[in-house]
Amino acid sequence: MALISSQCYDCKQLIKFEVQQTIINQKLRWYLSGNCHLCGSSIELDDVGFLPENLRQKILKEEGEWKIIIKNYAQNKSVIIKCFRQILNISTVEAYRKIQETVNNHDFIYRGTKVEIEWLLSYFQLEKINCIVQRIEAS
Ligand SMILES: [Zn+2]
Repeated sequence: MALISSQCYDCKQLIKFEVQQTIINQKLRWYLSGNCHLCGSSIELDDVGFLPENLRQKILKEEGEWKIIIKNYAQNKSVIIKCFRQILNISTVEAYRKIQETVNNHDFIYRGTKVEIEWLLSYFQLEKINCIVQRIEAS
């Protein structure tokens, strides 16, 4: 969970919101809630899928960025592409391009928030893919 500052939807005062990502039934979800101590409004939002990018960036700042490393990428390529297609709801070509671009330039296959990585990991573990999760150290 991260605490972020944002404007109250009613009185526009800067207040604190709690933002949380979670996994329910293998689906990524997020929640946002806050109470305005000035006007008394209470705000609650939730949705499935990725956080809006501005909120996601705040979670990354607060909780750090994580990566998933696959040991035998070459042997598991087709299963990994299948997982990415399912998880991200993209085509085989898109999944292939996305993965290839990443593995060509980095030691990991995906980077994101801790919960996003746990979410991917749950799929990879079902397929018995050997992988490692690590925090990316800020340079
Ligand atoms: Zn308010």
